[in-house]
Amino acid sequence: MTTAPLTGEPLALDLVNTVASTPGGEVDLLESAGDLRAWLAAEQGRLDITDGQIDLGAVRALRAHIARAVEAGRARTPPPLEALRTITDAQRNAPVYQELGWNGQAMTIATRRPGNATAVLLAQLAEAAATLLASPAIGLVRRCEGPGCRMLFLPAHPRRRWCSPATCGNRARVARYYQLHKENREPSRSANRD
Ligand SMILES: [Zn+2]
Repeated sequence: MTTAPLTGEPLALDLVNTVASTPGGEVDLLESAGDLRAWLAAEQGRLDITDGQIDLGAVRALRAHIARAVEAGRARTPPPLEALRTITDAQRNAPVYQELGWNGQAMTIATRRPGNATAVLLAQLAEAAATLLASPAIGLVRRCEGPGCRMLFLPAHPRRRWCSPATCGNRARVARYYQLHKENREPSRSANRD
């Protein structure tokens, strides 16, 4: 129901989930530069953003490759080689290095990446994807059981079934309530004086 991006999953899943399911169908939550800014703000603290214009098309293209690789990982089937190559290339374009500094008392290091804003962002998204894809956790990633919902999540406990208890979980509870209500009413209806 909500079109606010689902966040708080591993970064790669948060990215894939920006193609969101709504009752009206799929919605791309990264359709405009403003959408991307909002998503980056929601992911603040998980990404280092370099000033400059970000190529939205490149972000969406990487997202599609990550989505395919995640599906393969979940299904334990061979991933598309193009997806692996794209994810690797994105990291190679802006590899991380440690910048040494001096704070007046001690030497410090800061994590940096060379490259423009797009390259730096893609490299971080690709790194997050690679880490998840090569981890046993990929086999635990689930798709929400909400009707028509395709959101992915990594359950912290095995009973989790919904992307969000407030939306899909609630919808399922409401559906169950009506189903139960209907079942309870139907026998009594035949015995009804009406
Ligand atoms: Zn859901």
